[in-house]
Amino acid sequence: MQATPFDIESLLAAQQADFDIKHMTRDLEELPQRATILSCRQKRDAMKAKIAKISALKKETEKKRTRAQDEDSSLEKKENGVQAAIEAAGNDYRNAEARTKELDGIFRRRQALAEQMAQIDAELAKIGQLEEQAMSALADIDATEAEATEAFKREGGRLKASIADAQQKRESLLSQVTNELADAYRLTSERMGTVVIGRFEDGRCGVCRAGIDPGRQIELKAQAPVTFCPICKRLLIVS
Ligand SMILES: [Zn+2]
Repeated sequence: MQATPFDIESLLAAQQADFDIKHMTRDLEELPQRATILSCRQKRDAMKAKIAKISALKKETEKKRTRAQDEDSSLEKKENGVQAAIEAAGNDYRNAEARTKELDGIFRRRQALAEQMAQIDAELAKIGQLEEQAMSALADIDATEAEATEAFKREGGRLKASIADAQQKRESLLSQVTNELADAYRLTSERMGTVVIGRFEDGRCGVCRAGIDPGRQIELKAQAPVTFCPICKRLLIVS
């Protein structure tokens, strides 16, 4: 194929642009923030499940606390009533004795309830602490994800812009060579990927390294300065 040194330089520069596009595309796919964001989402699901468990336990414990409190309040009323009855009984000792026994029973039950409520309060304090820790962990996860998302957008945006620039550069370079060369480059690129063009050196294709027999070498030289490798079919620069 016909090609000026400028054409060859443009093809090699187009190939460099293709390399750059490939590397930047891989960088975009492998941005570390992707993994961070995914891991944050998994952690958030786990933390929300934990918070739901803590909330259920808190609700259950608060119910227990209310039941104990209600019982204590009704016992307090009863206690006051019995106390008043004892005072009203005056010299009726038998009646007063029975009332006093009743009062003892109420007193013991209220004491047991007081202990139970103190225990429940300690449990509730512990649950509150767990809840606070879980909420703070959830906030940390949200902050980490927000930061990673921000960085992902920034880095991703930068890479996408650079890829678009390289694509534009490639097209502009290919528009500067003959249609024949541009078509050959594009077709080979579609078929072979990033490595499109090599040099014929020491009787070998510089890309696939296949040795080319002397008869074919004469043919290649007749097609210089640009032809195809008879083995890998890439563009070959023959000087
Ligand atoms: Zn080859």
